[in-house]
Amino acid sequence: MHNNPWGTVRFTDKVALITGGASGIGRATANRLAAEGAHVIIADKDVELANRAVSGIEDDGGKASHIEVDLADDEAVTACGNAVAERFPALHMLVNNAAILRHGVIEDGSWQENWDVETSIGLRGWVLMTQVLLPTLKKESGAIVNISSEAGFLGRRGMWVYDAIKAALVSVTKTMAQEFVGYGIRVNAVAPGWIVTEMHFGSAPDPAARKRELEETPNEGCIMKRRAAPEEVASVIAFLLSNDASYITGQTIHVDGGRMGMSLR
Ligand code: NAD
Repeated sequence: MHNNPWGTVRFTDKVALITGGASGIGRATANRLAAEGAHVIIADKDVELANRAVSGIEDDGGKASHIEVDLADDEAVTACGNAVAERFPALHMLVNNAAILRHGVIEDGSWQENWDVETSIGLRGWVLMTQVLLPTLKKESGAIVNISSEAGFLGRRGMWVYDAIKAALVSVTKTMAQEFVGYGIRVNAVAPGWIVTEMHFGSAPDPAARKRELEETPNEGCIMKRRAAPEEVASVIAFLLSNDASYITGQTIHVDGGRMGMSLR
């Protein structure tokens, strides 16, 4: 029996694949789905981190495995789809999550070197991964969650490529919902606000100190005035994947401490 502090057990005998499941929001989601009974496939290019995530889940009594994949590599994504189809009779949950964030302003053209790498991982890679997994997802009517961002609803200096990708994912989520509804597959997105993950502290000179700072200092960008833990996004992803969300599809749920549409004064 898995160590499960949440009490709900909604995914017994289900199989879930999470891209970027080795870190941050993906890892918290892997832990949550495994705690609720799923076999979790962590599809990530970081082998060491992924192995650590798998061991963590197994140590807690859960089931997990790792498939090494670089979402920027079409052949690797296709191979991942084939490996899942060979090893599992059906896939019930897909979380398109792995992405990177680069900075580059328009005026000096510094964004240009980011375009290919960011879009091939965070947009093309997600759609291709969904395409190759679709036959396995169709078998028992799976559910998909795409991770957009508050960034997709904002315009921010120096991050137009990332922000445009996250806006596109809101639209892609609706397209997928339309195209897959006949298979009984629901597709939704979450748009997190500022979540304390390795994306924000991993490359700091002292990651642990930066993590603490992000956790402890106020976040004036939302009415709750704090940043969130990845587990607070994972719980919403798990909800959208579960039958508790059986009449929700094509939607983007904001998980941002009260930012979108709120006055901050
Ligand atoms: P993270 O950096 O902690 O984790 C990203 C994971 O993706 C890592 O395990 C990494 O190895 C993997 N990855 C990176 N490139 C890959 C590739 N080419 N192929 C396969 N795997 C790859 O990130 P996070 O903060 O947990 O972000 C997860 C998702 O949430 C992303 O889509 C991000 O844009 C989104 N998001 C994050 C925040 C935030 O504040 N952290 C806010 C809104 C949205």
